[in-house]
Amino acid sequence: MAKASTPYERALSFVHAAFDRVQLNEKERAILGNPQNIVSHEVEFDLDDGKKQKVHAYRVQHSNARGPYKGGIRFHPEADIEEVKALATLMSMKTAVVGIPYGGAKGGIQIDPKKLSRTELERMSRAYARTFASAIGPNIDIPAPDVNTTPQIMAWMRDEYEKVTKTYAPDVITGKPLSFGGSLGRDRATARGGFFVLEQLAKREAFEIKNMRVAIQGFGNAGAEIAGYLHEAGATIVAVSDSQGGIYSKEGLDPKRIHKYKSETGSVRGEYCQGSVCDIKKLKLDNTEVITNEDLLVCDCDLLIPAALDNVITEKNAKDIKAKFILELANGPVTPEADEIFKKTGVTPIPDILANAGGVTVSYFEWVQGRSGNMWTAERVDTELRRIMLAAFDDVRSEAKRQNCTYREGAFSLAVGRIVEAMRVRGWVS
Ligand code: NAD
Repeated sequence: MAKASTPYERALSFVHAAFDRVQLNEKERAILGNPQNIVSHEVEFDLDDGKKQKVHAYRVQHSNARGPYKGGIRFHPEADIEEVKALATLMSMKTAVVGIPYGGAKGGIQIDPKKLSRTELERMSRAYARTFASAIGPNIDIPAPDVNTTPQIMAWMRDEYEKVTKTYAPDVITGKPLSFGGSLGRDRATARGGFFVLEQLAKREAFEIKNMRVAIQGFGNAGAEIAGYLHEAGATIVAVSDSQGGIYSKEGLDPKRIHKYKSETGSVRGEYCQGSVCDIKKLKLDNTEVITNEDLLVCDCDLLIPAALDNVITEKNAKDIKAKFILELANGPVTPEADEIFKKTGVTPIPDILANAGGVTVSYFEWVQGRSGNMWTAERVDTELRRIMLAAFDDVRSEAKRQNCTYREGAFSLAVGRIVEAMRVRGWVS
């Protein structure tokens, strides 16, 4: 296997393997192996000092065979076209795995938004919505938040889209604030969906969540929320980390306490360390150790949850991983080379396109609410999310059993099969 070195190559490596497994013909491969549209513009907006700034902005629409294009918008210096293509492809796979009536897309602006003032950020977000207004729409392509884009940014974009198109369009974008058409439960959806997948995995593989020792990389929206659900279910959270490093305790950490210190000090180590200076006595007293992010990935645990960055589990550290299961809340945390190593070492990854699909599923609920004008209760969101995630897990498991392959291979095959089936009944391919 040639080494996949870009995010797009890594995503395609999993997708192409599924093309072989599902035995797609050349025409089907050509359609599904490339984005259907790449819309790219230079977006211009005013800086606070009166100067103008131009940024590269994209919307990659990978597939709309199963429904409108769907996917987030990322503001990041590295959000180049290759990365956005990879993420759009994975969105088509993700929406197909959970069986919601969407295709896949992704948007991006190549910029560091932390260097902009709030007013500049608003002007740039509105300029994006204005410039891409003809490419998106409630029945065409529905954006959402992603890295560095927030509910507030979605609100500005919806407002701008409604102005430009002179429509009322609560269903043009998801991840909006609750006060402007958002859905209850969206903030917790990724972690909640991941937790439901884990519940079903435990049921099918006959183990108990309460006996698991868990290590979580990333203590943001996804990582902190799932730490709470697992702690509540009786699991022992042995390690957590963020961009500044992590902590490990054999006896278990309390996510509420970590949350408190993280919000007060900006770091999960905040109770013990100020910058690189740590209180050794207190660490000893609590039987806690300071660890690096690399240590966390290979620490002694049963379940590893990457919930921060892509490309963190590679051929370099895969053979040292002690966890039996990896629940991929981050997008693309495991490289294809590491995945091959796991086939030999017996580690079972639950792939991102299943494990973190709770987020897009509740986005779908938000879109449904926007279209119908009906508001769902938090209980209804939770019940429907659970139903969809359990069914998706069982579908992936059946596919993996049928083909005698891994959960990842099963998930990609299932997704490719579902998309191609839609292409066939539409008459795009015979
Ligand atoms: P977030 O920004 O809320 O949290 C990210 C966390 O990762 C933070 O705690 C941050 O400190 C930590 N982090 C950053 N750099 C790190 C590093 N080098 N090492 C260790 N930790 C580091 O983001 P999020 O919304 O929780 O998303 C996390 C991952 O989950 C991303 O890969 C994202 O694409 C994926 N994801 C999120 C959602 C969602 O709905 N939030 C949906 C699908 C996938």
